[in-house]
Amino acid sequence: MTNPSVPVLNASQRSLDFAREVLEILTAIVPSGGALHEPEIGAREKEYVADCLDSGWVSSVGKYVDQFEAMLCDITGAQYAVATVNGTAALHAALLLAGVEPGDEVLTPALGFVAQANAISYCGATPHFIDVEEVTLGVDAVRLSDYLDSVLVEQNGSFVHRQSGRVVRAVMVAHILGHPARVDQLLDVASKFRLPVIEDAAESLGSELADRHTGTFGLVGALSFNGNKTVTTGGGGAILTNDSEIAALAKHLTTTAKTQHAWEFNHDMVAFNYRMPNLNAALGCAQLERLPDFVERKRTLARKYLKGFDGVEGVNAISEPPGARSNYWLNAILLEPKYEKFRDTLHRLCHDNGIMTRSAWTPLQSLPMYSDCPAMSVPVTQSLHRRLIKLPSSPRLAESGSAGA
Ligand SMILES: *Cc1c(COP(=O)(O)O)cnc(C)c1O
Repeated sequence: MTNPSVPVLNASQRSLDFAREVLEILTAIVPSGGALHEPEIGAREKEYVADCLDSGWVSSVGKYVDQFEAMLCDITGAQYAVATVNGTAALHAALLLAGVEPGDEVLTPALGFVAQANAISYCGATPHFIDVEEVTLGVDAVRLSDYLDSVLVEQNGSFVHRQSGRVVRAVMVAHILGHPARVDQLLDVASKFRLPVIEDAAESLGSELADRHTGTFGLVGALSFNGNKTVTTGGGGAILTNDSEIAALAKHLTTTAKTQHAWEFNHDMVAFNYRMPNLNAALGCAQLERLPDFVERKRTLARKYLKGFDGVEGVNAISEPPGARSNYWLNAILLEPKYEKFRDTLHRLCHDNGIMTRSAWTPLQSLPMYSDCPAMSVPVTQSLHRRLIKLPSSPRLAESGSAGA
């Protein structure tokens, strides 16, 4: 299927040689190529969805939603899980649960998905972008601590961003590509400034740091079950917490704040219709049963990439951080800085040969609607954006290819 001799317009010979070498390694590992992550739907998924349809309970009430939440608690060790319509809704609710109000600032990594900054904006708050570290791709807690020491000032029990005059209300951390960030270190820094930690664990279902599941370290965690995530419900998300009051409020906030009554409709606050439908949860229950298998196969594929790129000049496969067990939601390579100028030639050649590589997200403070937001200097985010290439990572790819693990 692949043809490494396809010419690439305007590329230098050196960049072509480099791109061809990388392509050769990739085609040996994933000869069928493909997208970054394709969902796998099996017989059990069809069985549960058919059962849900037959029951008539397809919408916001039903046994599968309760079962799905119970399974999430079991898998993550979180005491409470509240299923939502998508991960962005879970993030929005998580921010409100952490007490974010209009006019506040929320610290959030510049290397992130736009949903993070959007969710902060939905609260009427302003994202304040912070940098990440290269080893984990997550928030650099050490540099953050120094930065906050220099830009925040304590006023009436809160910490205020001296330059904007706004209260900094919370800090968000994300486990990028599934690799656990140093949320343990971040908790120390956050407590110094009395900031609740919100974990975006949308990509890291099945990933652990020091034997504890991601999304359960902070006050609230958010998961996503979009079609491109390790486990899918079509569209969906969940809020995780160990705090019973927050869990009760999470449920209330995501179900239009309806008070319990047999026939009266009463609602006691402005809230959201963010509840996951039972139909989606039915699909999710079948998918969650297969999570250990999905993660095992993703880890097998990761070992092939790590082995394939071992010793190759100019490029390294990204591995899980020390002390962490990653779900390797997406495998990726990182070009050495001297080779970053070859990135687009490499993308082009891969795409021409059926391997759907992708760059890291555009740093959030470079997007037009967020360009005026406060930010610390983010050289690591910018460098990662120039050098990181996401690779096909569907579980099925673990079985193909010649480069044995
Ligand atoms: C997918 C994703 C989300 C949002 O999830 P949706 O379910 O698509 O709304 C948020 N953050 C990160 C890091 C993600 O990868």
